[in-house]
Amino acid sequence: MPHQQDTELAELAGGFIHDLKNSFSTLSLQLQLLSEDFADPQNPKERRAVDRVNRLQGECGRLVDISNDFLRYARVKDLDLKPTDLHLVVDEMLDFFSPVAKTGGVEVKSYVPAGLPAVLLDVSLFKQALLNLLLNAQQAMPDGGKITLQASADPLQVVLQVIDTGKGMLPEVAERAFRPFYSTRPGGTGLGLPTTRKIVLAHGGDLSVESEPSKGTRFTLCLPVASVVGREVYCLLNGTRVPISEAKVSVLDRGFLFGDGIYEVLRIYSGKPWLEADHFARLERSLAAVRIHGVDLDRLRKQIREGIVSGGFSEAIVYIQITRGVAPRAHAFPTNIRPTELLWIKEAIDTYGPQRERGVKVSLQPDLRWRRCDIKSVNLLANVLANQAATEVNAVEAILYLEDGTITEASHSSLFGVVEGKIRTTVNNPGILPGITRKFTLELAARIGVPVDFRSLHRDDLGSAEELFMTGTSMEVCPVVQVDEQAIAGGKPGPVTRRLQEAYHKVLAEFRDEPSIGPM
Ligand code: PLP
Repeated sequence: MPHQQDTELAELAGGFIHDLKNSFSTLSLQLQLLSEDFADPQNPKERRAVDRVNRLQGECGRLVDISNDFLRYARVKDLDLKPTDLHLVVDEMLDFFSPVAKTGGVEVKSYVPAGLPAVLLDVSLFKQALLNLLLNAQQAMPDGGKITLQASADPLQVVLQVIDTGKGMLPEVAERAFRPFYSTRPGGTGLGLPTTRKIVLAHGGDLSVESEPSKGTRFTLCLPVASVVGREVYCLLNGTRVPISEAKVSVLDRGFLFGDGIYEVLRIYSGKPWLEADHFARLERSLAAVRIHGVDLDRLRKQIREGIVSGGFSEAIVYIQITRGVAPRAHAFPTNIRPTELLWIKEAIDTYGPQRERGVKVSLQPDLRWRRCDIKSVNLLANVLANQAATEVNAVEAILYLEDGTITEASHSSLFGVVEGKIRTTVNNPGILPGITRKFTLELAARIGVPVDFRSLHRDDLGSAEELFMTGTSMEVCPVVQVDEQAIAGGKPGPVTRRLQEAYHKVLAEFRDEPSIGPM
């Protein structure tokens, strides 16, 4: 039972250090009182005594520091993990760290974009790790310099790098940087970086370091994406259950070759599909519009129910992707083709919570899409490029405008303004997707008595709009408080948006309380 012995030993050591720390603190206090008695030394003997008391006090302070660092190191366990947007954590940390660093001539630049996949964090513990890395970087630059934070993501992990332009480390020092009690800094306890690494490992991640003397140091921190850590994805390909990593379609699939397919996305709350009838009506319309036939929608509805139950999902997202099918490459429809059907359900991690509360920044981007955006087609390249351009300026969404400046919608959400007390939005037309959340929000507006003016917004109107907000299946109702560098409505979510959010949540809470779904 080596593991149990380790735990026992760690607990013993923790308790022991805790007691020592209390004694050091008492000792330190006594020495403080003693040095006050000798505040005005009268002769060399007294001066020597003061010197000694001060030195003892310094040593005592250091022992308290080491004990605190040790306890911080030992206590990295029982994490309170929550799906978190790393961008927000970094922003909060830099809010207070950057001004302090600046006084020491250290400039901090962050390129951590919004919209990274959520990671599971114990936020206060993770902040301790991040602060350690920032302090480490700052200490490596006593004459000033630059700290750069950058982040990227792939489907499995989010990678954060903290890069400084400081004095760097020799290879043998870098190699030992994470060893407890190894420090080259005078007065350092040698527990800062080991604690940081332990915290990152406890999050299921990894921390590594690269360094070059007199050039600088780069710490690379990897964290697994929350949806990967969470429940297994439920996946049905052409009606057969397969692990998502093994679900494959042919390279001759027309969805792959021509983008010849459509999709639909539904949200599951408390194990029940939300606004199911509307989503299925849109799915039916999309299929009819592109003339994909032979999909049994009742069977799909049933398969969603079976997936929710057998996957044990409560909060989830359902994706339905349907392409025309597999056939030798030719533009015109092949005869005798069977559609490819992919249904997958994954646990939903609501990363929009803080954004719905505070509001978000969006970026204006040209609408380069085709003229049938009312079809929920898998051709999303123009949406992807617009959203990427927005991400690169730290915005969470791109709002799209036509050549004459008319606003259509956003890259994956519907857009609304509030002008002279009325909600302003485009009338449904082939230039926008008839959003299901948009339809529901307009019903809520009628219920709470806010009039709607179905006219498009123009990009020149945005600055003077009283409010802006977006809607979408995962996003729900989200306030927009900034368009590129321009603040909207004083940079705060407006009252109409707030009333709509309240109304939305009231209906949603009632829906959650309804009996759960049964078999069809
Ligand atoms: N507009 C576009 C272009 C979208 O892609 C989406 C959703 O994906 C929406 C609007 C919002 O639609 P819904 O409310 O049905 O999710």
